[in-house]
Amino acid sequence: MIVAIYPGSFDPITNGHLDVIDRARKIFDRVIVAVLRNPHKVPLFTVEERKLMIEEAVRDLPNVEVEVFDGLLVHFARSKGCRIILRGLRAISDYEYETQIALINRKMAPEIETVFLPTSTEYSYLNSTVVKEIARFGGCVRGLVPPGVERRLREKFGLPMVKGR
Ligand code: ADP
Repeated sequence: MIVAIYPGSFDPITNGHLDVIDRARKIFDRVIVAVLRNPHKVPLFTVEERKLMIEEAVRDLPNVEVEVFDGLLVHFARSKGCRIILRGLRAISDYEYETQIALINRKMAPEIETVFLPTSTEYSYLNSTVVKEIARFGGCVRGLVPPGVERRLREKFGLPMVKGR
C-alpha cells in the first residue's frame, strides 16, 4: 500500500492542484491532500474552508482524502505511515524552491522520498494567488477552479454569480 501526501496551502484549491491529485491517485494507492495551517501566512480562506472545498472537489475520487496539519510535514507524514511526499512543478522557478525543501525533508527523514509531478501545460500559469487576484477585481475564474471554489470566491468578495460563461 503506497500512500502519498500532497501538502500545500490550497488557498484555495485550483484545477491545477486537482490535475496533480487526479494523476497521482492513478499512481499511488492512496493520496492524502494535507492542508497546511501556516501561522506565518494570512490566508483568504480558513483552514476549515480550504479543507471543505477540497473535499467537495475530490468527492468522487475514492482513494483521495483530505487532512489538516501543522508543524513539520515529515512528522505528519511519519504519523500517517507515509513514505512519499508529492509536489507539483510548474516552472523552473518552482524547481529551485522545491528541490531545496525536498533536500531538507530528506535530511530530516531519509526514509521519505519526494516525488514531483510536472503540471499539465494548460495549468502551467495557474496558482492560487492569480485566482484570488482575478476574483478580487471581479474577473471570471470559471475553468480555473472547481465550481464550489468559484462560488465561495464570489461570496468572499461580494460579487454576483455569473450564469454561463
Ligand atoms: P505551497 O504554499 O505549499 O506552495 P500551494 O497550495 O501553492 O502550496 O501548492 C501546493 C503544491 O501544488 C505545490 O507543489 C505547487 O507547486 C503545486 N501546484 C500549484 N499549482 C499547480 C499547477 N497549476 N500545476 C501543478 N502543480 C501546481
